[in-house]
Amino acid sequence: MLKGKSAVVTGSTSGIGRAVAEALAEAGANVMLNGFGDKAEIEGLRADLAQRAQVKVLYHGADMTKPKEVVDLVKAAEASFGAVDIVVNNAGTQHVSPIEDFPPEKWDMIIAINLSSAFHTIRAAMPGMKKRRWGRIVNIASVHGLVASKDKVAYVAAKHGILGLTKVVALETAPLGITCNAICPGWVKTPLVVKQIEDRAAANKISLEEAGIALLSDKMPSLTFVKAEEIGALAVFLSSPAASAITGAAIPIDGAWTAQ
Ligand code: NAD
Repeated sequence: MLKGKSAVVTGSTSGIGRAVAEALAEAGANVMLNGFGDKAEIEGLRADLAQRAQVKVLYHGADMTKPKEVVDLVKAAEASFGAVDIVVNNAGTQHVSPIEDFPPEKWDMIIAINLSSAFHTIRAAMPGMKKRRWGRIVNIASVHGLVASKDKVAYVAAKHGILGLTKVVALETAPLGITCNAICPGWVKTPLVVKQIEDRAAANKISLEEAGIALLSDKMPSLTFVKAEEIGALAVFLSSPAASAITGAAIPIDGAWTAQ
């Protein structure tokens, strides 16, 4: 479905980003991976995906807190693939504490990774998309772009911000064959959430399983974690020709979290 297209997926060495990168490659797109992790493991992921999907898969280690490196990530993908048709802004991090204890450096880091890096990738990829009159931008936001939870001030602010960014880019590009949408997942069992489950288990002296169930019961009526592969499938759909009229949307995939 995406044969001949090329994608950049930020934060794709783990969790949701990895599943999105795999889904895009399996749909035929070349993919530039990005994110932190063990060098040998990342090379294994890259080589395995290239072999399995029969597309070009490359890796760039840009740190999403550094605007110059973010721009270089997009430029390197353009140079290697000839174009960047799809940008998935996924890299993200979390810190949980009440605002009065929230370290300012954590605020700055979360805003840089979860929000500003998306501005920089889109800004860098846009001239090429406009020239070719085709582009797909998928921002991995969160239910926390739509509603709030306590103790997550930077994350919720960044995710609400990314919905604003999504709408502005959609308006600016609507007549040009370019779409920009946000996916708003509920709980997905990735390292980012496993840490919250571990913290909850330790604080309440309960097992990891009980802490996982408690986490779901708080917010998600489905009582089931969203699978990263389901987000990958949605990102592929939003990148497909069938989704050409969907733009400026914030699409929940959240087991009815935000229906309440
Ligand atoms: P994860 O921790 O499994 O993956 C995060 C990825 O971002 C990793 O590849 C990591 O290396 C990369 N990353 C972190 N800091 C980076 C930096 N400075 N520069 C480059 N890469 C960096 O987390 P995840 O749960 O897969 O989260 C991915 C996205 O999905 C995030 O934006 C997160 O907010 C969002 N999200 C997650 C959930 C969930 O329940 N897991 C729910 C809603 C939204």
